[in-house]
Amino acid sequence: AAMREERIKKTKTVCTYCGVGCSFDVWTKDRKVLKVEPHAQSPANGISTCVKGKFGWDYVNSDERLSKPLIRRGNAFEEVEWDEAIAYVAKRFKEIRDEKGPDALGFISSSKATNEESFLMQKLARQVIGMNNIDNCSRYCQTPATMGLFRTVGHGGDSGSINDIAEASLVITIGSNTAESHPVLASRIKRSQKLFGQKLFVFDLRKHEMAKRADRFHQPKSGTDLIWLSAVTKYILDNGLEDKNFLDEWVNGFDDYRESLEEFTMEYAEEMTEIPKEELIAIAEDIASAEKVAVCWAMGVTQHMRGSDTSTAISNLLLITGNYRRPGTGAYPLRGHNNVQGCSDFGSMPNFFPGYEKTTDDEARARYEKEWGVQLPAEFGMDNHEMIEAIHEGNLTSMFVIGEDTGIVDANINYVTAAFEKLDFFVVQDLFLTSTAEYADVVLPAAPSLEKDGTFTNTERRIQRLYKALEPKGDSKPDWEILMAIAKELGYDWGYTHPGEIMKEAASLAPMFAGVSYDLLEGYDSLQWPVAADGTDSPRLFEDGFPFEDKKAKLYPLEFELKYDTNEEYDLHVNNGRLLEHFHEGNMTYKSEGIARKTPNAFIEVSPELAEERGIKEGAEIKLISEAGEATGVVTVTDRVRGKEVFLPLNDNGKSAVNYLTDNRVDKDSNTPAYKEIAVKMEVMKKK
Ligand code: SF4
Repeated sequence: AAMREERIKKTKTVCTYCGVGCSFDVWTKDRKVLKVEPHAQSPANGISTCVKGKFGWDYVNSDERLSKPLIRRGNAFEEVEWDEAIAYVAKRFKEIRDEKGPDALGFISSSKATNEESFLMQKLARQVIGMNNIDNCSRYCQTPATMGLFRTVGHGGDSGSINDIAEASLVITIGSNTAESHPVLASRIKRSQKLFGQKLFVFDLRKHEMAKRADRFHQPKSGTDLIWLSAVTKYILDNGLEDKNFLDEWVNGFDDYRESLEEFTMEYAEEMTEIPKEELIAIAEDIASAEKVAVCWAMGVTQHMRGSDTSTAISNLLLITGNYRRPGTGAYPLRGHNNVQGCSDFGSMPNFFPGYEKTTDDEARARYEKEWGVQLPAEFGMDNHEMIEAIHEGNLTSMFVIGEDTGIVDANINYVTAAFEKLDFFVVQDLFLTSTAEYADVVLPAAPSLEKDGTFTNTERRIQRLYKALEPKGDSKPDWEILMAIAKELGYDWGYTHPGEIMKEAASLAPMFAGVSYDLLEGYDSLQWPVAADGTDSPRLFEDGFPFEDKKAKLYPLEFELKYDTNEEYDLHVNNGRLLEHFHEGNMTYKSEGIARKTPNAFIEVSPELAEERGIKEGAEIKLISEAGEATGVVTVTDRVRGKEVFLPLNDNGKSAVNYLTDNRVDKDSNTPAYKEIAVKMEVMKKK
């Protein structure tokens, strides 16, 4: 038994499946993942994990993993050695830059890769290529939340920690299927409900698990959250229920904001949201009288044409009621991917250097120019959405995408893949031959989290280390090593020997991470940004005031104009979201046998009313048709949805992928696709 014990290796890692950022020891023997063992010191999760973190690791040994670089020759891919692949990528990037200028290239970073890899991807874009066309998948999800918070409180991240959510007297979730998307965080809420009667208000289109556990559950009409939030805030002010001391001491912009609320009467809110006026009043009174309010939100808020404004409305409400700066209060945009927070934090954005300093900020740019020995472009680059547009317009001819199945997860798949076909040179770096990789000229095999060192940052801004448990499979390599090889071939020998050195450079350049070092992140130790030079971190933001000149937050006036609705022809609204068992487009989880067996087929949720109206039953086959495309699926009749709402899981890589239905509409402030605002019509294929 002792011998057997010895061959078992225990390595601390961080889950790759959601923004909660559970950490645990993974037990491996040779390449086999035996189990995961949570640790009492795991800061985000203690001894809990969910089904994905516990069982979702088979994919690392999947036969479908890419093990060699591929170069397209005619219609087929040919396996090549690394030297050849890297030389070819570097040569083509250089030719395109020299011929058409650096802005003919665009990069997309991975929110599943590490902070250090995000840092290098933006360094490759900025230092080596000389452009700011770099973005990541937060553009598809939480950039609107970041916008709304930046405008009002000056930092785009969660304002406290998961512990603060657990400590709140009232938690409000809006457009978040917390039990399935952030399971361990949801269990903290469930525990607080039991322990001290924490109140939970849920606003969502679907009656999901947390809705059933809520003290109040409301289903506002799709896209109208901004209205009830503003009407509730107006009612609080009209009735003198605001936190006057907090407003005096910590908030600017009151008069303009107050004026902007005029249109948001209770009558208007009732008409637009379909929540009865008496209930809206009760919501307002409950929020005003709650001692500590924490608001969590997710894609149900952000993936709308007014996603940034609705996030702003949440922050306005928290300011009016004084729910920032104290334990148990604050704003919590729940991050989806394991490292969607860190990927943006470390500079894979078209407008920000690492730590959210604008590329137009002369002082910041000079700092990077000095360290990197080159002139850097000041002007903001293109975001994901603008890059796809630029390809169609003929201005962007080469792309480099790492760890992102853009051809499935971006809205309007038909439009996006048509863009890929127009590219002169397309490089995809991933674990698998994804549907995006099928369009590539070169595919580079990357290594997943278990096969590398680095750090991830979870939803509560917590930076945590992961350690290498396994050697990369086949000839695959960690993303940071591949990026280094490309830079070297292009004349920039970065020379890092370990991701800790990359973090050291990031900390020396970005004031937000000044005190971050691998020494302070040993084992289960973690740091929540901003981290001062002496290593002091920030579990709760704004305790010393808001990061504006006079330390005061800003109320931000909003107006509302309904831009979307169903119509006579496209009479149904499609909602979409995650399933507990799957992660995102499913490229990893569908390769975990146990999980795939449990939820093998895509389904479409239809309300009992609609099923009756269309004469369809459980198991019927239907086709949904939008102005952009169509998708088919098997019907599940359920009261989780109501009326003319239908629901599709987003975690599906088959033909009913919801993004065949989504179109080019975006949030006006962030260009995030309005995934949740799709009108469709239904065609019944098989009644059952
Ligand atoms: Fe992983 Fe999220 Fe589940 Fe934790 S809650 S184990 S981070 S998927």
